[in-house]
Amino acid sequence: MRIVLLGAPGSGKGTQAQRLLARFGVPQISTGDLLRSAVGRGTPLGLRAKAAMDAGALVADQIVVGIIRERLGGADAATGYVLDGFPRNLAQAEALAAMLAAIGQPLDAVVLFNVDYAEIARRISGRRTCPNCGTIFNVHDHATPGITHCTKCAAAPALTQRPDDNEQTVTRRLAVYDEQTRPLIEHYRAQGLLRTVDAQGSVDEVTARLISVLTRKPAAARKPARQARPKRPRKAPAKAPVESKARRKSARKKARVERKAAPARKSAPRTTHKARSKGKRKVVRKKPVRKVVRKPARKPARKPVRKRARRR
Ligand code: AMP
Repeated sequence: MRIVLLGAPGSGKGTQAQRLLARFGVPQISTGDLLRSAVGRGTPLGLRAKAAMDAGALVADQIVVGIIRERLGGADAATGYVLDGFPRNLAQAEALAAMLAAIGQPLDAVVLFNVDYAEIARRISGRRTCPNCGTIFNVHDHATPGITHCTKCAAAPALTQRPDDNEQTVTRRLAVYDEQTRPLIEHYRAQGLLRTVDAQGSVDEVTARLISVLTRKPAAARKPARQARPKRPRKAPAKAPVESKARRKSARKKARVERKAAPARKSAPRTTHKARSKGKRKVVRKKPVRKVVRKPARKPARKPVRKRARRR
């Protein structure tokens, strides 16, 4: 499974990526987490990225594409991954496509998380992260109201709030999302990779929807819905050619003159209805031909021979 999670900051991509890791065993690759880790360790790359991150801007493509290239080469990414927060603009999407084409492993899907901005503000302001295991919690969630310490780690470390989760930076991050990341929706839709999830509601509800769209057969493999037989277009009645009034009048006049000039024809005898019906061909049944059996001619009866009296 090679998928990209697409959505505004605070739409829940990170939380759901952790759920997919638990469910399918595919690693979550978050450019935000990788950059924060580099910043925290004070590496040269981290130092270069920090200023942009603090301002809520995008870190240079060259840096993030380099990080992704290295991370996708990891042994745990060989069977798949969930990309969270990458790509974030068209240049990164093209770099990713080229990288994956070179190793013959194209993306399976891109999932767009749909959440309204009021919900995003609520989620970002309440977001807390465990510095040890990275689990994301929210103080506004009814399951974890006002949570302060990690409930996953045995040592229960205190949760921290991201430095860029403040109101001013969030406004900038949302503007950057609209300008640079949102065009990816159409980019992936055109490639037939885009699937959309309603990301409002509880974490469990969103996870259920996400799993449902990921395990659903792609549109091309699904049985096409039975289509209603297309209606035959009604034939428009043939329109008589439009003639001008003057033309019709002259045609009538010509016909009258021709009738007068023509030699009077004997009109056919008028036929009455009766006569016409009589005129119908009668089906005459032929009488079967009788065989004439000729009686043999009677022989004329012989005249009795009179005996002559003998003359004496
Ligand atoms: P995130 O944790 O995904 O919200 O990212 C936090 C910050 O890291 C962003 O505001 C950016 O400054 C930076 N960042 C993360 N991913 C990228 C990326 N793909 N391209 C550029 N900057 C990124």
